[in-house]
Formats: sequence, structure tokens, C-alpha cells
Amino acid sequence: MITKLKLARLNGQPEIFYSIQGEGKSMGLPSVFVRTSLCNLHCIWCDTDYTWNWTGTRFAHANDARPGYTKFDKKTWIAHCTIEEVAAAVARHPCRNVILTGGEPMLQQPALVLLMRQLRQTDPAYRFEVETNGTLLPTPEFQQLVDQFNVSPKLENSNNSQKLREKPAVYRFFSENAKAVFKFVLAEKTDLEEVLELMARYGIPAEKIWLMPEGNTRQKLLQRRRWLVEVCKQYNFRYTDRLHVQIWGSRKGV
Ligand code: SF4
Repeated sequence: MITKLKLARLNGQPEIFYSIQGEGKSMGLPSVFVRTSLCNLHCIWCDTDYTWNWTGTRFAHANDARPGYTKFDKKTWIAHCTIEEVAAAVARHPCRNVILTGGEPMLQQPALVLLMRQLRQTDPAYRFEVETNGTLLPTPEFQQLVDQFNVSPKLENSNNSQKLREKPAVYRFFSENAKAVFKFVLAEKTDLEEVLELMARYGIPAEKIWLMPEGNTRQKLLQRRRWLVEVCKQYNFRYTDRLHVQIWGSRKGV
């Protein structure tokens, strides 16, 4: 059986693009992005809702009230690609930092293991980062191949139930894992209280925590940035902006 990856489809093409990492520990690093489809959460403010907000589902989204917003047809928005096709598309770019993002990429670990192995065979310099919502444990093979886990636990503001979004064993695993860093998206003071609780509950060291303002527009980021920088100074967290929003606004695939 040929293993296929389910990738997000954007403008009719599998979403693989060359840009810079816009957030977190590697912010500014030129990177090839591979966006997988499917997610096990459904955050109300998700800006990649075309990976999970399928026609016929009842998940709420902030855009529901927007005139003309409709849910997404799975057949149109998922691209089924062979490992060879994805590896060839990645290798077309003059860059060895690859970001596996989504959706939730860790839903497709076996296929991504094959992709990472294939790319490393062509060039051992390939480096892999994974953007994950922190609800799934990595398999030993996956964990071995990945260089950096960017773990972004979702808070109450995401509208996912606590049972769905907070997986104690996974948080503990990443808290102790040298390859993992945490990125929290904050909009309000109550979000900060939640972060502090999670930090205490799972023993997440402050130096592994990046705080990022919630917002898909420059205006929203501007409103929250100064507050968040002061919070980072107070608790010795790292601050991260959203470079891609600053540069391209809400445009996708750039
Ligand atoms: S975990 Fe990420 S991809 Fe999934 S719904 Fe939330 S923001 Fe969107």
C-alpha cells in the first residue's frame, strides 16, 4: 500500500511553501512549510480552519457570523500526496529547515516519519520542526527524527473543552523534553492566569515558554504587544510576535 499524506490544499495546490518562520523560538529563520490537513481540536479563532471545519460538522467558528462564510468541503480542501511528491516539492527550495504544521501534523506521524527519512537520505542537513497543539505523544521514531517541537497548548479562549485540549501525560512529556518549547497565545489577563497554572501543574520551566499576542491583524497585535512584553519581563518568559501577520496580514501560503 502506498502511504499518502493528507495535506491542506490552498489555491488548488498542496500547501507547501518557502517563507520565514513567523513565530516562536526560530522566528525569522527561512523555512519550507508543509501544511497537513486534519485537526483533533477546533479552536474558535483558528486561521487554518480549512484543515478541519468540514461541511456537516457543528463546530463553532468566529467567522460564522461573517456574511458568506461557509464550512469547507473535504474533497476540495484535502490533497492526497505521496511521500515522493511531497519530498520533491520540499527539495525544490534552497532551504533545509522544514516546518511540519497544520492542522495537527502529529495525527499523521507514520507518513511524516517516511517523509523526514526520505529528505534526510537526500541531504543529512535537513532539520525538522513540528508545530503541535500538545495533545498527542510522539512515537519513538517521530521523536528521534524531529529537531524541535513547537508546542502550543490551547487555552479556554480556544473554545475547546478542557478534557479535549489538556492532556496531562503529553504536557509532562514535552515539559521534560529537551527538543520542546511552548508557545502560548494570549488575548486577555485570564489567559495569563491559565498559563501560570499550567506552568505550575506540569513543571514547565520559564525558559521554555514563549508568549504570543492573539490576533490575525496588525491592529490586534499592536493592542496586545506592550502588555505582553511587560508580562514577559515580569515572569522571565520569551516574547514572540507574529511576523507573517506584520508582513502579509491574513494572507495564506506566503
Ligand atoms: S489546534 Fe491549531 S489547527 Fe487545530 S483548530 Fe486549533 S489553531 Fe486550528
